[in-house]
Order: sequence, then C-alpha cells, then structure tokens
Amino acid sequence: MPRRYPNIILTGTPGVGKTTTAQQLVELSKAPETSPASHVPLKHLSINKIAKEQNFYDSYDEELETNVVDEDKLLDHVEELIADGDGEGGWVIDWHVCDIFPERWADLVVVLRCEDTQVFYERLTSDNKAETGEKRGYEGKKLQENIDAEIFGVILDEAKEAWPNEGQVVELPSVQAEQIEENAEWIWAWCQQWVQDNAGRSNGVNG
Ligand code: ADP
Repeated sequence: MPRRYPNIILTGTPGVGKTTTAQQLVELSKAPETSPASHVPLKHLSINKIAKEQNFYDSYDEELETNVVDEDKLLDHVEELIADGDGEGGWVIDWHVCDIFPERWADLVVVLRCEDTQVFYERLTSDNKAETGEKRGYEGKKLQENIDAEIFGVILDEAKEAWPNEGQVVELPSVQAEQIEENAEWIWAWCQQWVQDNAGRSNGVNG
C-alpha cells in the first residue's frame, strides 16, 4: 500500500544540524492547519537514540572513539517501526549514515552541509549535541575524519549513489543559524506538496 505521508532521510556529517532541523520540522508539522490537505504529521526517528536505547552496539572503535552499530539488528527494528500504523509514513529518519537504508524507505533524502570549515570545526569541538545536550568535544582522529568527510562531501556522494534518480537527493546549506529554520521550512513545504501530488494520483485525478 502506498504511504499517505512522505518519509524523509535527513543525513550529513555529525554536527551539521540534523537533529536541530528535524526537531524544528516536527514542530512546524504540529502548527495549526490551514486546511486538511496541509496536515502532514511528521515523526522524528533518531537512529542514534534508537541504537543507544536498544543497545544495538556491536563493538567499540577505540581509534574513532565511537560505538559500532549492528546494522542488521538496527534495520530490522526500524523496518518494524516504520511499518506501524499501516505504514502511513511521515518519518524523518535522522542519521549520519544513509546508504544502508533500502531505497524504498525514503521519498526524499536531504543532506545538510556545513562547508565553512572553521564554523564546522567550532561545532565539533565546542557545541552541544541537540540530541542529548552533551558537549560533542571531538578531538584527534575522530575530529579530523569528520572534517575531511564534510570537506569532501562523502555523505552527499553516498546518498547520490544510493538514490540515483533525479531530485531524490537534495543538498541544503546549514552554516548559519537562520538556515536551520529555512531548511525546516523548505522540507515542510516539500512534504505538503508531496501529499497534494500523491492524493491526486490515488484519486485518479491525474489520470
Ligand atoms: P547533528 O544532529 O547533525 O549531529 P545537531 O543538530 O546536534 O547536529 O547540531 C550540532 C550543534 O550545531 C548544535 O549545537 C546546533 O545548535 C548547532 N547547529 C546546527 N546547525 C546549525 C546552523 N545552521 N547554524 C548554527 N548552529 C547550528
């Protein structure tokens, strides 16, 4: 059965603003509706949170100071979650990895980018994670790898390879504070348009 609401994958290097943007997007979706057609309930699905809560960790990478996730367990669990409610959709899947997800899970993949290396460096070393409020405090190899990944657009390339069709992957800049809201609004407008277009199709309006 086709989904009623679109699923979005919100991805990008850690620190680009995925969680903050997802939270704003979900808030926008709760705002009083102007018309029933514009009602698109969205739910934030933080993969980091799930992996932690369900303890889907396989091992610990000492060099990169990070937990290694058991991808099979994670995928099975998320598949069940998003099939809930008759698979009506409306999930905002937030993680720094995107290419392990089946293509059919997402209607749009948004890759957030922070191409100002100085700003990004400050974020990774000094900012607090939106998810937990903890200081990120990356250093050493972990810091360098994430900065390099952002400079080279590694996640954008992975997304484009996994979702090769025109328009499936969108890159949005997330350098300045006001871009968080702009991006949330852009994605929100896209979701509303998707619902309008797809409702038309299922009613046979578009032939
Ligand atoms: P991610 O989920 O991608 O790891 P977060 O949403 O946790 O990133 O954001 C990391 C930090 O950077 C937070 O303190 C957040 O407020 C800040 N931040 C994210 N995006 C922006 C932006 N566009 N401008 C300014 N600060 C930002």
